[in-house]
Amino acid sequence: MNIVIFGPNGSGKGTQSSLIKDRYELTHIESGAIFREQISKGTELGCQAKSYMSRGELVPDEVAIPMVIETLERSSNWLLDGFPRNRTQAEKLWEALQARGIELSFMVESQLEQELAKQRIMGRRICVESPHHPNNLNIEAIYPISGKCRVCGGELQTRKDDQDEAAIEQRHQVYYDTKQGTLAAVNYYRELSRSGKFDEIILDGRMGIQELKEELLLKIENKMNKIRE
Ligand code: AMP
Repeated sequence: MNIVIFGPNGSGKGTQSSLIKDRYELTHIESGAIFREQISKGTELGCQAKSYMSRGELVPDEVAIPMVIETLERSSNWLLDGFPRNRTQAEKLWEALQARGIELSFMVESQLEQELAKQRIMGRRICVESPHHPNNLNIEAIYPISGKCRVCGGELQTRKDDQDEAAIEQRHQVYYDTKQGTLAAVNYYRELSRSGKFDEIILDGRMGIQELKEELLLKIENKMNKIRE
């Protein structure tokens, strides 16, 4: 199974990705994580990417496209996350899949309105005991308890980039741009899915984590059952 997942920062895409990846034992190919790894290793690719990333801008296509396509070539059964992020990347990815005879099973899009996505990012609180304890001042279901971690009572911190409104704005501008940005890539794949090349799954990012999980797995299982019939 090969899946491409889309969703703005703050839409719960990270949670959904780890759920699908574990459930279907997929290789999680996350373009942002690949860049971060290259930066920490001090490679040439990392040096090229660093300044763009710190400004919340996209790394140039000449660098990002070959990097992701080479990674895909080495994997089977993957979940692609963070790529494509613009129309050109969308087209190049599709060309590469076609040329190599690689089938896409699903595109998943987690939809969330921009202002809500921003509030969620800014409300995120990180537990000093574990990054996997969910706490958010702007999501009722995971509101901290008396100012402490709702899971273990630990101290809570903010992540610096979560409070940088200019950087959030910049990243969201790229995402919500329907002409050249990520929503242009989403629309490109939506068109392909309508011609029956693969299936589209749309999720309502306003839903709670548990509801979203159930909805997502149900949609995947339904499609898989239809394919098996
Ligand atoms: P992420 O972890 O997905 O939010 O990505 C962090 C940063 O990595 C982005 O703000 C971009 O600077 C860079 N990046 C990740 N994926 C891509 C991509 N597909 N194309 C260009 N730059 C990317």
